[in-house]
Amino acid sequence: MSNSSSYTFQAEVRQLLDIVINALYSDREIFIRELISNASDALEKLRLLQLKNQTVYQADKPLEISISTDEDNHTITIADTGIGMTRDELVENLGTIAHSGTKKLLESLEQADNKSDLIGQFGVGFYSSFMVADRVEVYTHSWDESGESLLWTSDGRESYTIDTVDTLDRGTRIVIHLKKEYEDFAKEYRVRSILVKYSNFVGFPLNFKGDRINTVEAIWLRPKSEVKPEEYDEFYQFIAHTEQKPLTLMHFNADAPIVLNALLFVPDENPEKFGFGRVDHNVALYCHRVLIDAKPEGLLPDWLRFLHGVVDSEDLPLNISREMLQDSSLIRKINDILTNRFLKHLDKLAKDQPETYADFYSRFSRYLKEGIVTSWQHKDPIAKLLRFESTMTDPGKLTSFDSYVSRMKENQKEIYVLTGESREMLENSPYLESFKANGYEVAFFTDHGDQFVLDAINKFGEAEIKSIDRADVTIPETPDTEGESLTADQTKSLQDWLINMYGKKFSKITFGNRLVSGAAVALHGADDMSSEIREYMKAMGQDIPEAHPEIELNPKNELVRKLADLKAEDPELARIVADQITNTALLRAGMLENPADIAKSSQELLEKLLLKK
Ligand code: ADP
Ligand code: MG
Repeated sequence: MSNSSSYTFQAEVRQLLDIVINALYSDREIFIRELISNASDALEKLRLLQLKNQTVYQADKPLEISISTDEDNHTITIADTGIGMTRDELVENLGTIAHSGTKKLLESLEQADNKSDLIGQFGVGFYSSFMVADRVEVYTHSWDESGESLLWTSDGRESYTIDTVDTLDRGTRIVIHLKKEYEDFAKEYRVRSILVKYSNFVGFPLNFKGDRINTVEAIWLRPKSEVKPEEYDEFYQFIAHTEQKPLTLMHFNADAPIVLNALLFVPDENPEKFGFGRVDHNVALYCHRVLIDAKPEGLLPDWLRFLHGVVDSEDLPLNISREMLQDSSLIRKINDILTNRFLKHLDKLAKDQPETYADFYSRFSRYLKEGIVTSWQHKDPIAKLLRFESTMTDPGKLTSFDSYVSRMKENQKEIYVLTGESREMLENSPYLESFKANGYEVAFFTDHGDQFVLDAINKFGEAEIKSIDRADVTIPETPDTEGESLTADQTKSLQDWLINMYGKKFSKITFGNRLVSGAAVALHGADDMSSEIREYMKAMGQDIPEAHPEIELNPKNELVRKLADLKAEDPELARIVADQITNTALLRAGMLENPADIAKSSQELLEKLLLKK
């Protein structure tokens, strides 16, 4: 009575299967972990349906997983009494890949050494069975009474078939026909040891040849003091589909304002570094041990999307829909509590385990910075977590705003910062001279986008954060340096002469103490945008308003002093020298719009000097 239909795998699945089948793995056993994880997911979904009073096919069937092996026929079978699949669901779930970054995933998978870790993390775990199988059979009956009894079969190459079969019980039974070289997986001792390893945290009974393998417990509901470190590690490995240990974890139980038990893990690697693009958080939401949603939107802010874990709240209504969940005020409250607690955890980690925090920071600082720009209400505690180099740190050593503030000079009210590509570049910045000479610390920020982050922070405690390349920053106090200077009259007349010559080109021309030895420095006018923001707008194809930098001249600089006399003696040469001084200042500040300007003034200067002699 079989009614057979043949289907071709989606191209991406064929490509994935090709990688899975042909690659060399040392740990093929993970296919068992992946199939158990799917069985457990299917059971969680069924339990939730029942709690919502849905009518379910074979409602009395207990929720469990059974595993068996057949040494003679070289098979291993994994069966569950979960939600099962309809024909459409078989096609959708076992014939296509839903992951949005599939192309990238496949590229990275081809190159990655830790393929088996990636397979589970990116939601293609089922296909790992083809690492060991030359044929896989999936017998399934959906929870829906009207569903058919179906058999999905494939050799994992081009296509699969779906047949209707004699009546099946609810759930899914997967029979793996092992390749000759992997017949080991049909041996009882081998499978038993693997099951012990992977089934500890499965939330349903798991039976093997009549023996119950696991004890079902919700580790997150146990008091912290009673959970062993290796239990945390194993639980993390189970939910994150990985063999790695977490970098750090936070476990907390609270009774007020809402009953909340949470266990959050930071992975050992930045999941976005492989180039998959954005990942989704992997923190599941439970209500008293019942899984409500494996990846609820809105449970955590976007910038915490690297977290894995479990959140359990008794205060959640069980029969809440996904949509209702998303904009429920309870979820917002949980989000806020989790974020605050996690930020506190990081702060404590930085104090108690600075090395672990440094590892965390090197991998996840980008997310913190994203948090500052996008999570207004959390920006202050996140700012405390930032680390950076400064004029007072050795290269490669990092400091924090708190430490910076503790080193501030008595009369210092502001935090001085400078953004740019690298410390090396910033060390040569024309703005740094007098701050350094007068013992004021300047913090270096060298990540792309740092200017936005600093603008968003704005203030750390009482201290305003000021970029020292801006005209509205003044050094609080500078002891008079030695050396001759222009008189007030000379200064005034040189200033008038320059303003008259340059007109609107500069918003201001001043004389000041910002420089110790150089002739002039260009500053962003108070109303101008920073170079970084201009660059950004340029890249976005937006029109950028004309900038009007300020020029500050150093009245003690010899060139500037000579210029004061030269403007009367040889106005033409004085003009060229002034051009050269201002162009150089613009160039050093990265504000020279047209590089040809400086070539022109240099050329003129050379000609003038050569022709004179
Ligand atoms: P993921 O579990 O990350 O979604 P998988 O490749 O492991 O990716 O599984 C693909 C999909 O196939 C699952 O999302 C689920 O819808 C379906 N599926 C797999 N195994 C089962 C099962 N035992 N019972 C019901 N559905 C299953
Ligand atoms: Mg899976």
